[in-house]
Amino acid sequence: MTASFSNLGLSPNLARAVAEMGYENMTPIQAQAIPVVLTGRDVMGAAQTGTGKTAAFSLPLLERLLKHENSSTSPARHPVRALVLLPTRELADQVAQQVKLYAKYTQLRSTVVFGGIDMKPQTLELKKGVEVLVATPGRLLDHIEAKNAVLNQVEYVVLDEADRMLDIGFLPDLQRILSYLPKQRTTLLFSATFSPEIKRLANSYLQDPVVVEVARPNETASTVEQHFYSVTDDDKRRVLRQVVRQRGISQAFVFVNSKLGCARLARALEREGLKTTALHGDKSQDERLKSLAAFKAGEVDLLVATDVAARGLDIKDVPAVFNFDIPFNAEDYVHRIGRTGRAGASGLAVTFVTSSDGRNVADLEKLLKKKLDIEAFEFDDERPRGRINDGRRNWREHGVDEPREGLDMPRHASTRPERGDRAPAAPRTPADPFFSKPYEAPEATTAEAKPAWEASVKPAANRISANIKPKRKLAALFASVPAEPADSALAPEAPADQSAGS
Ligand code: AMP
Repeated sequence: MTASFSNLGLSPNLARAVAEMGYENMTPIQAQAIPVVLTGRDVMGAAQTGTGKTAAFSLPLLERLLKHENSSTSPARHPVRALVLLPTRELADQVAQQVKLYAKYTQLRSTVVFGGIDMKPQTLELKKGVEVLVATPGRLLDHIEAKNAVLNQVEYVVLDEADRMLDIGFLPDLQRILSYLPKQRTTLLFSATFSPEIKRLANSYLQDPVVVEVARPNETASTVEQHFYSVTDDDKRRVLRQVVRQRGISQAFVFVNSKLGCARLARALEREGLKTTALHGDKSQDERLKSLAAFKAGEVDLLVATDVAARGLDIKDVPAVFNFDIPFNAEDYVHRIGRTGRAGASGLAVTFVTSSDGRNVADLEKLLKKKLDIEAFEFDDERPRGRINDGRRNWREHGVDEPREGLDMPRHASTRPERGDRAPAAPRTPADPFFSKPYEAPEATTAEAKPAWEASVKPAANRISANIKPKRKLAALFASVPAEPADSALAPEAPADQSAGS
């Protein structure tokens, strides 16, 4: 079967936009999902960002909405017909940009709403009328409450990165939003994994869905060369520098587990001469967009990021990924290293394992269904350094020999590692006024160096809105869960993280 777009019979105006994007053949998720969505069936799709899933739902959805296309200036003639929900602002922005491109030659209107910026420009757009609304849950609820968004004519709803939305704690918000929608509708759910929670969500809101799955969840690409180095915390930066130097790595993602760790590491690497930027939830929206743009434009070599901040970003073909901290959630390992070795290109994933990481290693081994080959790292000179251990022995001595039971438990707030059921992966750092300050971006992109990507960001994006509500309601809804230490920069990013769409 040839998976060419031309076989789909898309309307000429959509086909033209697709051709202009340079797409010829469909990706596997597109080949499977588009024909199903065109029939109006519900879909439950297992696919990660980078697989082409945005077009997989956008194109058939736009095709089905073409019957409503009209040139009237009356907002009443442009009610919201399709709602796309995403967990983070960056992701919402990316998807909205893609939808706009696909709908370019149609008269269907689209817009995006997310937290962290002024509501007013979004309100104006909504009041003009849009057929496709891309949104993060918290901000959408603000607009619903302000009566800016009316959802009683929605025919399609897309829950994108659904596992992440649940992870962040958006379930109550999603339930509320879905309660505003007509029962008669098509629901599409995309998730990197089908956890028990996701299946429950699908059972509640999808009707007889067609399941499409492109790569088995929890599978890492065979094109990624994976190394696990046994190191001490003190050695990590040095090992990173050596690998970058020896391998001639031009750009890499460096993943850490905490916001403070992220800021500190970026500062330290910058001081050591590596062009580095950081992406975490304590940075303002504007700073984060700048960091991303600088990385995309090749102005910085290393992007240090937390999982929540980096999730779903459309940055492809990074030559290498470093897990400076082995992730708390084993599934994040798969997401992280999925940044490299894409589309058949070879990639490198280097993970640092310290003596206190036993439990995280065990979790990862259980997920990947294999023992990790943890190597001792060979330093290339004799400068003083922290103690090197000899592979697995050290962390095994510290605790976990066999994977624990129950690791496939739902990952929502009540099982978060910082609540005491796991050994902490990041060492607690004494208070340090310097590092406790919010991260300040290094001298960043100058106006003339601004990449094209950044030019598409709305100018209002640097204003923080007084309309953003704190996410206190989540703690109340997960009544058994102690409140998230929202301002503890050492905690892994969680519901209070600003990078969530709010
Ligand atoms: P997504 O998984 O939707 O974030 O898409 C990842 C990237 O793949 C985006 O930059 C898309 O523009 C690109 N893309 C989507 N579909 C195709 C296709 N059929 N052929 C080539 N590139 C594509």
